[in-house]
Order: sequence, then structure tokens, then C-alpha cells
Amino acid sequence: LTAAIARDTAVKRALRDDGIEAGSHNAGLLFEPWEIATNEGSPYRVFTPFWRACLAAPEPPAPERAPALTLPDAWPDGLKIAELGLEPEVDWAGGLQAEWQPGEHGAGRRLDAFLGGPVGRYGDGRDRPDREGTSRLSPHLHLGEIGPRQVWHELRGRGINADRFLAELGWREFAHHLLYHFPETPLRPLRQEFERLPWREDPAGLAAWQRGRTGYPLVDAGMRQLWETGWMHNRVRMVAASFLAKDLLIPWQDGARWFWDTLVDADLANNTLGWQWTAGCGADAAPFFRIFNPARQAERFDPEGRYVARFAPDSAGLDRVVDHGEARGRALAALQTVSGRD
Ligand code: FAD
Repeated sequence: LTAAIARDTAVKRALRDDGIEAGSHNAGLLFEPWEIATNEGSPYRVFTPFWRACLAAPEPPAPERAPALTLPDAWPDGLKIAELGLEPEVDWAGGLQAEWQPGEHGAGRRLDAFLGGPVGRYGDGRDRPDREGTSRLSPHLHLGEIGPRQVWHELRGRGINADRFLAELGWREFAHHLLYHFPETPLRPLRQEFERLPWREDPAGLAAWQRGRTGYPLVDAGMRQLWETGWMHNRVRMVAASFLAKDLLIPWQDGARWFWDTLVDADLANNTLGWQWTAGCGADAAPFFRIFNPARQAERFDPEGRYVARFAPDSAGLDRVVDHGEARGRALAALQTVSGRD
């Protein structure tokens, strides 16, 4: 985030040096990360009061229409984009292409599809990886192909009450607020005592997790959905991340790095928040001692097993990398060495 701010400042300065008027406007977030602060002027560390303060602030302005551009009479010499040879020779992105339509048009279509149906059932639907219950706007939001203010005003304009959904955009705001104020958190836990946790080095466990071969079907389905489509359902991200950080006791940073490499919506703010939340070491995080049971999560959120059948039908037949009950005990013992309590 700081890098993005520095980049924008450099671009503006260079343009102004050339006598060109340059200004910037926030379109990537609903609120600038420094605009929302506690009464003491400090950053928020808890989501609910943060979001309450956002909702009490002046409403984010509606997006401006795209400006009319004056085209030059003569274009400078250029290249066709294909001539730059940017595409890899091996087409590894087939699954991604089938799933995503990059650009503003694709983003608009996703929003329309979501507002045309799932938004009304979002409260329950958002937790079901076996259904199309969420917007799938995350890569488009990350890449700026649609902005949160557009989404906000589209909901308002259509008279849709979607508080639960808006609150998720609120978590996105919260993630950026935290990254702005705590820029070291992509690599270091916000709660520093977690640096003392006796994390394990386990390359075989890490590889099994990355490839979706842990023997825990919901985890494996999520990791394979990620590899095949570049996206993973939020509920499954939490379960898969918990499995790595708690059942395998592998540093959450290793998991965050893998997500960073494979997600189409990889976003430093959201990924950091998601991992630190799951690993219990971030702001307003799930306590470390609350350890997801992957089998129980599958029963609740994929009750007919349709999600697992789609992405990891063979997983139940694999040898498990670890026994969940034993792993849970090991994780709780590790937690004791951090603080003696939580
Ligand atoms: P919807 O449910 O339709 O939500 C709408 C939008 O709100 C999303 O597009 C996203 O921008 C935002 N949002 C939703 N949930 C969250 C959340 N928990 N935290 C922050 N913003 C949220 N999201 C990313 O965009 N990039 C990441 O790199 C990322 N890494 C994650 C890692 C872990 C371990 C976890 C648990 C979550 C992560 N998330 C990340 C958050 C969340 O899983 C995705 O934003 C969501 O699944 C995207 O699907 P959607 O667009 O259909 O979401």
C-alpha cells in the first residue's frame, strides 16, 4: 500500500514537472485508510467499531463518469500487444480462462449476475462452497476493474438492502486500514508473541497441502479449486488455512505465500488479514485455540459432498498426512508455550 502511494506520488510529480495538471482520486476503497480513526486518533484493531465508524462517516461519493478523452491526430509508432511475447509458451492458464473474464465488462457481468439472484440469499449462501452464493468480484476489485463505490451505489440505486454483503466490503476496507497502519504485517504477526510459537518445518506436509493431497477432502477440494481456477471459496480458505497453521503447525507466512502465487485475487491487504485472522495472531482474529475440524466443516457447509465430488473425489481414499485429533492436541500444546493461556 505504501508502495502504491509512493508510485502515485512519483507519477503525479513527473507529470507536473512536465507542466501537466495531475490529481488523484480514491476509487479503490470506500474510505481512505487514514480517514477512519478512533476518538484518540489511533487505528482500529477491531472490525465492528471500525465498520460502524465507516458507516457513520459521510457516504462515499458516487463514481464519476469516465472522462471524454481527446485523441491525438497522429499516433506514435507502436507494437501489437502479442508482439511483446508476454504470454507463456505453455498454456497453464486454461482453467483460469474458463472461469474469468478479465476487464470491466467481465466485472460488470459478475455484479449483474450477483445482484440478479444470490445477493438476496447472501446471508446463508455465502458460507456454502457447493453453491454460487457469493459475488466473485474479488479479482475485479483487486485489479480495479470495478470499484467498491460503484458496487455501493449500484446497491443503493437498485434499492437492495445488502448489509451483510456490504460488511464484507467493510472487511476489505479494514484489511487496507490495517496494512496501511501496520505495513510489516505481511511478514510479521500483529500480535508479536506469536513469533515465539514453535512452528514446524515440514516440506512434505507443505507440499501435500499445496497439491491438495492431505487426505482431508474439504481441504483438498479447496486447494485444488485454487490451483485449477485461481479462486477458493472463503469458508474453505479459512478451513484450509487453519489446517496448515494449526493441524500442520506450518508458519502461516508459507501458506500466505502460496496463496499469493496462485490466487487470481491475490491482494496483500486481504491475504494478510485472512491469514493472520485464521492463525489467531492478527487484529480481531479468531482465537488460536478454536481449531476447525475439517470433517465437521464439510458436513455443515458441503452437506451433500458436491463441492468435494467436483474438485477432490479421490481425497477420502488418501492416507491422511496427520490425525486431526492428535494435531489439535499438538497445536494447543504449542500455544501454551507462547503465552500459557489465550
Ligand atoms: P464476496 O463474499 O462476494 O465478498 C465481496 C467482496 O468483499 C470480495 O470480493 C472481497 O473484496 C471482499 N471480502 C469478502 N470477504 C472478505 C474478507 N474476509 N476479507 C477481506 N475482504 C473480503 N480476499 C482477496 O480479495 N484476496 C486475497 O488474497 C484473500 N486471501 C485470503 C486468505 C485467507 C486465508 C482468507 C481466510 C481469506 C482471504 N480473502 C482474500 C478473503 C475472501 O476469502 C475473499 O475476498 C472472497 O472469498 C472472495 O470471493 P467473493 O468475491 O465471491 O466474495
